[in-house]
Amino acid sequence: MTGNEQYYIDTAFRSNWIAPVGPNIDAFEKEIAEYVGAKGAVAVSSGTAAIHLALCLLNVTRGDRVFCSSLTFVATANPILYQGAEPVFIDSEPETWNMSPQALEAALEQAYRQGKLPKAVIVVHLYGQSAKMDEITKLCALYQIPLIEDAAESLGSTYKAKHTGMIGDFGLYSFNGNKIITTSGGGMLVSDNLEALDQARFLATQARDQAMHYQHSKTGFNYRLSNLLAGVGRAQLQAIEHRVAARRRLFKRYEQKLSWLPGIHFMPELDETKSNRWLTTFTINPEVTSVTTKQIINRMTSQNIEARPVWKPLHLQPLFEGCEYYPHEAFNSVSEKLFLTGICLPSGSNLSDVEQSRVIETIQETFEEAINKEGIV
Ligand SMILES: *Cc1c(COP(=O)(O)O)cnc(C)c1O
Repeated sequence: MTGNEQYYIDTAFRSNWIAPVGPNIDAFEKEIAEYVGAKGAVAVSSGTAAIHLALCLLNVTRGDRVFCSSLTFVATANPILYQGAEPVFIDSEPETWNMSPQALEAALEQAYRQGKLPKAVIVVHLYGQSAKMDEITKLCALYQIPLIEDAAESLGSTYKAKHTGMIGDFGLYSFNGNKIITTSGGGMLVSDNLEALDQARFLATQARDQAMHYQHSKTGFNYRLSNLLAGVGRAQLQAIEHRVAARRRLFKRYEQKLSWLPGIHFMPELDETKSNRWLTTFTINPEVTSVTTKQIINRMTSQNIEARPVWKPLHLQPLFEGCEYYPHEAFNSVSEKLFLTGICLPSGSNLSDVEQSRVIETIQETFEEAINKEGIV
């Protein structure tokens, strides 16, 4: 928390707007839209809800196909299943760890030949790093497939001076407790298509038709954000630039202190993009060192430091068994390699220098131990 949240919560209490409508919601939507350069925004109860609404707006229904980044959190693809549609997973490429335009092209070409083009493409900006959007938007335009940007992790990140989430047809952010700004739980759908956003608001409030009595002709959802939580979001948003700077500083220090270790490669950042560095992540090349991410994570755990592997690709999840998958190249699945060799480090905006030093030392010790024990790096 920044300290200003209580003020906005108090305004909600004073005005008695304890509901999924109210002035904080309207203001939070306006402030996010302004920050990312969107014509409009719809505040919802989670990032997942925002993805679900985007799929509804694009009329994704039973039997449809949706192309989706494989290296991501399950929330990106769950709404595809809610709609009874079929996810097709697209691999990463090594320069951004995000959707491989090469794999997307292969998938679209084949789908076109088979007459099975997808209803939508969902691209993820992983850990704050934006995907190669020029290449991806070009392919989507060629086949006229709408593009949804899952920018849940990348609020504050830019691609060629545009905010992630504002390059495709719809974008969304998450305000879950682990994200760069939080409302404890919450999300935002953004777009320049105001008509579609009105429809999203309608669907998010139980699809209530215009009538004095309660009338419904469509399936709706209870997806609106609370006016109390929107107040928390308003104060959090004021700190976004500060937090992006803090996380970028953390990344830089990790990189300075650790990149000399054998086989370590930090997540890249493309020219003309700026990552919010939501999480600092690196890979360890097993051809260079015997040290594994598992050893590092175990050592960290013993020191009461939380670290995690990179997301397990969705095409490897039991939930999605049997779903189609397009690798970056034949016999080169980039997301699988990233999963096996990647690690996410403690990256909180409020992590102190002392705390970060403890993480750095623990990683260095893992390497030193391997050298002492096995005489090799
Ligand atoms: C957190 C996250 C979501 C889901 O957001 P919620 O607000 O938790 O529903 C979706 N996609 C990605 C990539 C995420 O990291």
